[in-house]
Amino acid sequence: MTYIVTENCIKCKYMDCVEVCPVDCFYEGENMLVIHPDECIDCGVCEPECPAEAIVPDTEPNLEKWLTLNTDLAKIWPNITRKGTPPADADEWNGKPDKEGLLSRNPGGQ
Ligand code: SF4
Ligand code: SF4
Repeated sequence: MTYIVTENCIKCKYMDCVEVCPVDCFYEGENMLVIHPDECIDCGVCEPECPAEAIVPDTEPNLEKWLTLNTDLAKIWPNITRKGTPPADADEWNGKPDKEGLLSRNPGGQ
């Protein structure tokens, strides 16, 4: 198994998660982070750190799409190990439904 980042991270991107990961397996897109499933050691320490509750174990149901997305984007986005500045409107987007269409596939950290 692995932990993965899901929809509510989009446009929230608080980045609290990257500070606690012992194996630095987060990767940064323009408006979301993902976890590299082959690098995650399933320790679970990032899950309660996410203010958006966007990190879940892939053992929860109906997450195939998000597992694929984390797997694919972790290969093309840069690694991130330090918390940056969250978007100014992150709190406004936290919990909003149907954010999937807003996901940018562009790499972050530019
Ligand atoms: S803490 Fe949560 S919302 Fe913030 S970047 Fe990590 S997964 Fe995304
Ligand atoms: S579960 Fe552990 S290893 Fe996996 S992303 Fe979270 S902090 Fe990193």
